[in-house]
Amino acid sequence: MALNFVFTIDGDWDQYFSTRLGQEGRRPLPERELPLVEAELDMAAAVGGKFVHFVHTSPLTRDFFLRPEFVALWRRAEAGGGEVGVHCHEEDLYSAWHYADPGRMEPAIGDLVRGLRAAGLSPISYRGGFMAFGPAVIPLLEKNGLALDFSCDPGRHLVTNGALVSDWRGAPSNAYRMDSADHRRPGGSGVFEIPLGIYIERQSLWAIWKKCRALAASGEDVFVTVLAHTYDFASWKMRLKIRAALEICKAYGVFLSPAEALNKLKGAGL
Ligand SMILES: [Zn+2]
Repeated sequence: MALNFVFTIDGDWDQYFSTRLGQEGRRPLPERELPLVEAELDMAAAVGGKFVHFVHTSPLTRDFFLRPEFVALWRRAEAGGGEVGVHCHEEDLYSAWHYADPGRMEPAIGDLVRGLRAAGLSPISYRGGFMAFGPAVIPLLEKNGLALDFSCDPGRHLVTNGALVSDWRGAPSNAYRMDSADHRRPGGSGVFEIPLGIYIERQSLWAIWKKCRALAASGEDVFVTVLAHTYDFASWKMRLKIRAALEICKAYGVFLSPAEALNKLKGAGL
């Protein structure tokens, strides 16, 4: 029995989530984001380079992270044993979410996948912004060769301003193959789900240690993710906490790249 972690970093920046800044102020800046991604790569070395950086796309900024200076970093991530994935914040911040609208999601996902592949990168992973996800996304992931989803936060039921953003009530807390009609149920789609296990920002190191110990004692093969954000890397305290969290996870389990996790899940006959 083995405890398997995938270290995931959502490529968001603080200003994106600001309700005080205007459109311009919310945009990412190369000089601000590039050093943070560099710090991610340094951190990933602590787990053998095995991580996935989720590349942000949103109506605010479609292909900012396909600029050559970022593509060079994504290539370094892949060369070091890591990967890039697709992170769609298809929303009007805190007011409307479009994850159930294929007309919005199809170009958002497809264009980023094509942009990354055209740059020689090999994305196979998806995560919705705010963990937003629904059955409409599943065929889009299948069509675009994204065989892994990382949007599941078991039990999460996020409603903002009266809109349902994310519903993972009743979802398994271990990896499963998704049902095409209900993302929270095991089934026969072409997409595997690896749920969230450790949310570094929101859990204390003590809670992370307890969670790892419980997962390792579960007596089954477990696949879960460890979540951080690019904006975390702006703080030395958060970098220290992430590093400590990774060491705690390593004491109880192993880190896999998404491709390695996918191979194991297929090998297990899921
Ligand atoms: Zn995000």
